[in-house]
Amino acid sequence: MTTLALDHAAVVGGHTLFKKNVFDAATYPYKVIKVPTDIKLGKKVKKGKLRGAKIYILTLEERATCDYSCEHWLDCYGNNMPFAHRFLANDALYPAIVRDLDEIDSKGKPYQLRLHVLGDFFSLKYVNFWKSQLQNRELLNIYGYTRNHPIKPIGKSILSVRNKYKERFSIRFSNYPDDPMSAQSENVSTDGIGCPHQLGLSESCGDCALCWTMQTKPVIFYDH
Ligand code: SF4
Repeated sequence: MTTLALDHAAVVGGHTLFKKNVFDAATYPYKVIKVPTDIKLGKKVKKGKLRGAKIYILTLEERATCDYSCEHWLDCYGNNMPFAHRFLANDALYPAIVRDLDEIDSKGKPYQLRLHVLGDFFSLKYVNFWKSQLQNRELLNIYGYTRNHPIKPIGKSILSVRNKYKERFSIRFSNYPDDPMSAQSENVSTDGIGCPHQLGLSESCGDCALCWTMQTKPVIFYDH
């Protein structure tokens, strides 16, 4: 993983290394909700209640949308993702997401959306937006990780949406071992279940499904 220097412009300014791949949804001619190309995610859920559901992704700009407390501010996963299209966290993002979800909903089948491949929940308005999508779209399921801990307003709001939609909003707090629905680096805690993909036991998240089916234990990720 590429680790940036403390005085690197992306670190100080709080943005991606790859500004050319940050798009404004207002002028972006394609879908913002995409089908994953990363084999680690997989394309379909193969286990549990959501078996058969297609997987989709949304990618925001790393650092620009993240909590500054993130342990990976310097060595963010995004430092090694030059080609991913990231979306600006602006007002145009909301209708673009709604448009794409409408199209997916029209297929009439449950689906699993990964929030976010890069980036994070950047405001209370944005968390509330997802709450209303869950309210209005019965087929929508969401999983992912956030570095917004429930000791600050955005994290508290994520927790309240998760409590309301226990089965459909599986957002794990990163590096927050106090919470059973968290996801830790092995350096923070090893009390939980190791990610089967990293352990060579599962080809993809679609095959594994642990992050959204296991509500009572943290998932542990390995740094090497
Ligand atoms: S535990 Fe399973 S679902 Fe979670 S990241 Fe690892 S492979 Fe994906």
